[in-house]
Formats: sequence, structure tokens, C-alpha cells
Amino acid sequence: MTIQNYIGGVFTAPNSGKYLDNINPATGQVYSQIPDSDQTDVEQAVLAAKKAFKSWRETPVQKRSEILLKIATLIKENAEDLALCETIDNGKPLWLCKSVDIPRAAANFEFYATGIRHWASKAHLSDDKALNYTLHQPMGVAACISPWNLPLYLLTWKIAPALAVGNTVVAKPSEITPMTAYKLCEIAHKAGLPDGVLNVVHGLGPKVGEPLITHKDVPIISFTGGTSTGSRIATLVAPAFKKVSLELGGKNPNIIFADADLKRAVDTAVKASFSNQGQICLCGSRILIESSIYETFKTAFIENSKALKVGDPLDENSNLGAMVSEAHMNKVLSCIETAKQEGGKILLGGERVHLKGNNKDGFFIAPTIIEGLSNTCKTNQNEIFGPVVTLQPFDTEQEAVELANQSTYGLSASIFTENASRAHRVSAQIHAGIVWVNTWLYRDLRTPFGGYKQSGLGREGGFKAFAFFTETKNVCIKYS
Ligand code: NAD
Repeated sequence: MTIQNYIGGVFTAPNSGKYLDNINPATGQVYSQIPDSDQTDVEQAVLAAKKAFKSWRETPVQKRSEILLKIATLIKENAEDLALCETIDNGKPLWLCKSVDIPRAAANFEFYATGIRHWASKAHLSDDKALNYTLHQPMGVAACISPWNLPLYLLTWKIAPALAVGNTVVAKPSEITPMTAYKLCEIAHKAGLPDGVLNVVHGLGPKVGEPLITHKDVPIISFTGGTSTGSRIATLVAPAFKKVSLELGGKNPNIIFADADLKRAVDTAVKASFSNQGQICLCGSRILIESSIYETFKTAFIENSKALKVGDPLDENSNLGAMVSEAHMNKVLSCIETAKQEGGKILLGGERVHLKGNNKDGFFIAPTIIEGLSNTCKTNQNEIFGPVVTLQPFDTEQEAVELANQSTYGLSASIFTENASRAHRVSAQIHAGIVWVNTWLYRDLRTPFGGYKQSGLGREGGFKAFAFFTETKNVCIKYS
């Protein structure tokens, strides 16, 4: 199968005529071709988006909302097909795509399609002399760049609010997982989204992403991906003062206090460690455990993790599927080697898993648990983005907070405690954009989302995303 770009409502071959191999990570085999696009394709896409902007921004909110809701409906109607595409592209278990990725992609469109109908501007009087009101106006062409770990979910998280407020979009999905973005274009077309309102250019970051973000007619950039890429983007666009949202990496602490509900803490820690093979920016990869329950927690955590099945992502019984690519698998394996060199003791896993049959050349890694490392070593400071977690003891609440915050990242944290005062006290002290208490990955789309420090810039979500994708203007009318 050959994927095409989607420009001005037409599926288009890349100008270069060149394609990249798309590999199914669970089999190691090439299963499709994706456009190796370049600056010239980006130019065409931005031009198409620019042309479509006037008419789209003038389209009544009700109509825009209806089209976006139709996209949500079609995502749901095509959920089986989309889930299968994502599994083959990404290697994650099919049940996970069906239960999380695809429903949440539809939910993104539903949330922003309905939210835009209720979004209101503020107006207020100034001393009975003047009326002030705030205008939020769409800005034009928004660049939406997304990663491979939650391909359709994160792409739609950007596209939906950008389109709802009246911008047009040029999106660049990850070159590693392009398939659901391609399918989304078919869906958008079928839903009646006017030509040029959504454009998708496939290809590599430097060849497609950079010309897109630096394009003079692209004033707004929403990026999710690695911290080093985010830093490069920030550097490139800063001189032009573009509006930028950066959702980047994480190295999230998961703090287990002695007064926690142990079963809940263990069950949730297993999910927070190994869901999606640990390839979720919000995974709790540093587990901090109060010393008095360290051994009890460790034993139960290892026991539950041992029971996880690494297998064919198409098999409903597989808990973990394949790593997204051979290169990424090798990177994670080399991080495990580093952990050993740093003195870490491997309590579970620590190696590649070789499956049989169709999956004999797939990229699988066993759930890996490590202890005995300092909080400042590479293993505990660098994002590994795989099924690798460390265990560390702490003695006091203050020590737990210090260990949690001793990181250049600040995306999320989890706390397990039955003490309500402690839950509030510790949450307030953690440097992270989201803190979960007695849970993990519970998302309400109305809440702000994003990281502190090297985890990003801007905390979007809810109606804040509408504000991000618009220019805010105050109009002041003096009437006396
Ligand atoms: P990545 O930074 O390598 O790539 C992300 C996207 O950026 C891809 O589409 C890529 O092609 C593009 N890109 C690469 N170089 C570019 C450049 N110079 N200019 C413009 N675009 C460029 O990230 P990845 O490996 O795809 O994703 C994994 C990372 O994403 C992890 O660090 C993870 O923590 C992070 N992530 C963060 C969040 C969040 O919400 N904070 C969510 C998911 C993933």
C-alpha cells in the first residue's frame, strides 16, 4: 500500500516521487510506503491552507461544529479499521487501540466541536465610561506536528481545536506511524470538511517539519514530541515570535506512601510502567517507595509484572506489544546496559524477547524492573521511553518530594496515599503539570495539560486550547 499526502482536498504524490518504507514493528516487515516529502510539498500545503482560511473562518460556528462532529462519528464508525491500522503501524496491542487511542481521538473531536459552541468572550464596563470586550480571532494556518506513540489521539488533540476556532491546518504526523493520519484525511473528506482546511504532509522532521514551522505564512505551531526536537523548534521560530505550544518528554515519579491502598498502588503502578510498552510520555518510570513497605511493594510489583504477556499485538491476550521500531528498541536496550553499568540490579526482564512465527523478527522487550540506582544517575534522569522502571526507597515525605523534583522534566506525577492532607500537601509541592492521586492517566479534557521545565511550554486543554489557537484582542469603546 502507498500512502499519499493530502493537499487541497486531493490525495497527492510527493513532488520528489520518493517514498520511505513503513515497517510493521511486530513483524519487522515493510508493509507500506510513505511520501518522502520536501519543502515544495509543504509550500503547496500551506498555500492550500491559506486559500481555504477566509471561507473556513467565516463558516458559522454551528456549521464548523457539525462537520467536526461528523468526523467524530466517522472515526467511531471506522474504529475497527483505524485500530488495526494503528496496531500494525505502531506495534501496540490491538485492544489498547480499540479501548483508548481510537475512542479518545473521536472524543477530541466531540469535545472541541461542542465546546466551540459554548466558548464566549468577556466584556466589562470600566467606571461607566468605557466598554471593553475581548475578541479571539483565528490566526490562519496552524502547523500541527505529532509523535508516534499515540498517533491518532495526539494528532486529533491538536487538529480539532485548531479547526474549531476557524484556523486551517497543515499537519505532519510522525513518519514512523503515518497510517491513521492518512485514514483521517479520507474521513475528513467524507465528513464534508472543505478542501484545503486540513492538509497532511508526510515525511521526515528536518525535510517537512522544519520548512513547515519556519514558513512565513504559518504563525502558530502545536508540537508534541521529544525535548531535543522541541528545543530545536523553539530556537528556529523564536526570531519570528511565532505562537508555540510544546508538549515534550517526561521522567515521571510515582510515589507510594506506606499508608497507600497497596493493591491499588501495585495494580496502577504496573499500568503506569508498562502500558503501551512504556512509550507514553506520562508513564511513571521512577517508582519511589516509602522504606517501611519497600520490600512488600517490590515483591507484589514484580509478581504482577511477571504475569504480563509480551506477544503479538493482534492477540487480545497480549499485555505488551512491540516497540515502535528497531532503532527505538536498540536505544531502550542500550539504556538497560547503561543501568547495569551504573550499578543497577535487574529484578525482572532486561532483555529483548524473541517470539515465534509471524513475530520472529519483531521488536519486543520484556517488562524491566531495576533497583539500586541513585536518583541522579543517567537511568533516573534521562527519558528511556520503554518498559523500564526503577525502584527507589525514601524515608520521609520531604525526601519523596525532593527525589520527585530532582529532574529536569516536570510532566506528571502520581501519589498513592490514603491521607487526604498529605495528598494535597504533596501535590502542591510537586513540579509537574499534572499530579494524579491514587490513579494514573485519568484525563478530563477540560483540564489544562502540559509540562513544567524540559517537559514543555504552555498548558493547553479545555477552552485554553481555543485561546492558544487564536489571537486575543481587547477592544475598548469610550462612550462618556
Ligand atoms: P520526535 O521529537 O522525534 O518527533 C516528533 C515529531 O516531530 C515527528 O513528527 C517528527 O517527524 C517531527 N520532527 C522531528 N524533527 C523535527 C524538526 N527538526 N522540525 C520539525 N519537526 C520535527 O518525537 P517522537 O520520537 O516521535 O516521540 C516521542 C517523544 O514524544 C517522547 O520524548 C515523548 O515523551 C514525547 N511525547 C510527549 C507528549 C506530551 O504530551 N508531553 C506526548 C507524547 C509523546
